[in-house]
Amino acid sequence: MSKLIPPHGGKGLTICLLEGAALKAEKEKAKGLKQVQVSPRVKGDLIMIGIGGFSPLTGFMTKADWKSVCDKFLLSDGTFWPVPVTLDVSKADADAIKVGQEIALNDPERKEIMATMKVAEKYAMTEADKRYECEKIFMGEGTKTAQEFWKIAEKDHPGVQMVMKQKEYNLAGPVKVLSEAEYPTKYAGIYMRPSESRKIFEQRGWSEIAALQLRNPMHRSHEYLCKIAVEVCDGVFIHSLVGNLKRGDIPAEVRVKCIDALVKNYFVEDKVLQGGYPLDMRYAGPREALLHATFRQNYGCSRMIIGRDHAGVGDFYGMFEAQTIFNKIPYATTACPEPGKALMCRPLKIDWTFYCVKCDGMASLRTCPHKKEDRVLLSGTMLRKLLSESGKVPDHFGRDEVLVILREYYAGLTEKVEIKLHGAATGQK
Ligand SMILES: [Zn+2]
Repeated sequence: MSKLIPPHGGKGLTICLLEGAALKAEKEKAKGLKQVQVSPRVKGDLIMIGIGGFSPLTGFMTKADWKSVCDKFLLSDGTFWPVPVTLDVSKADADAIKVGQEIALNDPERKEIMATMKVAEKYAMTEADKRYECEKIFMGEGTKTAQEFWKIAEKDHPGVQMVMKQKEYNLAGPVKVLSEAEYPTKYAGIYMRPSESRKIFEQRGWSEIAALQLRNPMHRSHEYLCKIAVEVCDGVFIHSLVGNLKRGDIPAEVRVKCIDALVKNYFVEDKVLQGGYPLDMRYAGPREALLHATFRQNYGCSRMIIGRDHAGVGDFYGMFEAQTIFNKIPYATTACPEPGKALMCRPLKIDWTFYCVKCDGMASLRTCPHKKEDRVLLSGTMLRKLLSESGKVPDHFGRDEVLVILREYYAGLTEKVEIKLHGAATGQK
């Protein structure tokens, strides 16, 4: 019997990635099917569905699931799920496809068939539907009204922009995934399937594992969060996003090198495991924190580290809204009607952390009684800004072994990217 947390949904890992003879046959068949080009976000979602990262999902959502997820954080069968996982297609494609038909889903960038899908439903996504989804998924405590939200969201919220740019129809149905694209080779040793991380956790005899979500280079604050988790759990899974990011973000290869340097020099190596996952950021703040916990449960993690402004963007979300949302989701305070339908991975909530000169070490608002001027506020965005502009970084902001790698990266950049600071990154909030 495994001591690990079971995968979400109560059905084990739902693997839709084909292998061996079945894969070969499906690939042959796919060539003769109607080809539909997918977006980078859909490509990431497909791989996660394939490897069981999105268990219990086995395909793209129907309109009923989409609506229920937006309104109630639940699939229509009552299983917890925090964000829509939908497949958008053009009106021309939708008109040419019948319900019941099998289609092939193609990654236009690599010109590779990623999956086949049996279309169970097609439904229009009107402007009003998209706006509805945006308000439900992306509107946080940072804006008071929908009017205020829309005034800045269309210009400044990459998640909203992504949804509004989606094509006019959605197709729903179960998928058979045929490829993990570039990830297994490009990120060899880092890219991991849930079955693989679970196996490693079991070999190490771990049962309580905390996941750390990373999309920025790991700095002192992340190191501190990890160490708090190591103190109270069996181990930590440092899990980096290796899908697409915004302009100005640091590529995954560089971030992985930074984590390696930190782990090698500042951690007890067998208390941490590094891995990568193939999703793009959705920038959905609190909802995305819930998604992070959901798929980490599938990877075998019982706790999700949630710090300040988790998965946030600009000033759209409250600083700790990604923590408090865990108290408001279905089954947070009521009993779950069926085993497996509730989210089991619990948040490990940690307050704002920083280096304090008077404390002479890392601390948080819960442990440090000193003043603002005694503290070195650490944020990934700030670090990127400092490095891209001057290369000068205040003491205690980063570890030397990590800064060397980052400076080398910035020195090699030919094009400068302006990095905007918002409330969360400036320390003004
Ligand atoms: Zn202090």
